[in-house]
Amino acid sequence: MKSMLPLTVVLLALAGCGGTLSDAGSTEVQFDGERALRAVQAQLDFGPRVPGSRGHADCARWMIDYLGQYADSVAADRWTHITASGDSLPLVNITASFNPGQRRRVLLCAHWDTRPRAEHDPDSSRRASPIPGANDGGSGVAVLLELARVLAANRPQVGVDLVLFDGEDYGDFTASTDVLLGSTRFARQNSRYRPRLGILLDMVGDSTARFPYEGHSYSRFRADVELVWNTAHELGYGRHFPRQSGGYVIDDHIPLIQAGIRCMDIIQMGLPYWHTHGDDIDKLSAATLEAVGRTMAAVVRNIAE
Ligand SMILES: [Zn+2]
Repeated sequence: MKSMLPLTVVLLALAGCGGTLSDAGSTEVQFDGERALRAVQAQLDFGPRVPGSRGHADCARWMIDYLGQYADSVAADRWTHITASGDSLPLVNITASFNPGQRRRVLLCAHWDTRPRAEHDPDSSRRASPIPGANDGGSGVAVLLELARVLAANRPQVGVDLVLFDGEDYGDFTASTDVLLGSTRFARQNSRYRPRLGILLDMVGDSTARFPYEGHSYSRFRADVELVWNTAHELGYGRHFPRQSGGYVIDDHIPLIQAGIRCMDIIQMGLPYWHTHGDDIDKLSAATLEAVGRTMAAVVRNIAE
């Protein structure tokens, strides 16, 4: 396990509270990009979060404990998936909920597992080993963990479900084998779940982040997508949320959409270090994580109205 700081220090640093005086004079806890970046480092410190690995099991325990400090309820849905090649994978989806009794709900989700190989790495000798997954896995999780702290301090009016999907990145996307496992299971188990708005966060931490409209999201949930992009622009984060069409992406929102669960995808595609060993903390910025996190916090506030 690689460690920049003793783990306890990282965890303690994450646990502290910092309020700022909002315009209305009330103390409102703001999403803190530095804390989110430390949450990425904490995940990296467990090593690759490949299903079946020690890093995966330890990180799951840590996230469940961490969310338990803030959410009204935390559920860990564990199951074993048998892969196309016959391997059995211990998987766990984690759901942290606020105001579980509320009918009007917002779904915010991300995958937490990391890829077991680096098929795009320029160094062919390193392609068989797992990626660090700072942006691909780490960034979306970090935004949700920091959001949990913010939502606990600024209680939302609506119900909020923070869902961490497992098994998104294990297999072969071209053959659609052993990928999107956690979201597929969640969709099957929650087929009557109907959040007012759903947002998937994937690859959301790069220092140069730009999130054009994802094709499936925009074509199906245009008003929701525009609500999120407008919110980002109002907060001054328009440079990260250009009002431009991006491509169509196969990601965890697809099984949800197929089950009737509205969910858009905020994702940055085309990064040169995608699925390589270059996907590490040096590519990420606290400012980007803060832009995404504060936009999500504002969307949750606005959706209540
Ligand atoms: Zn990936």
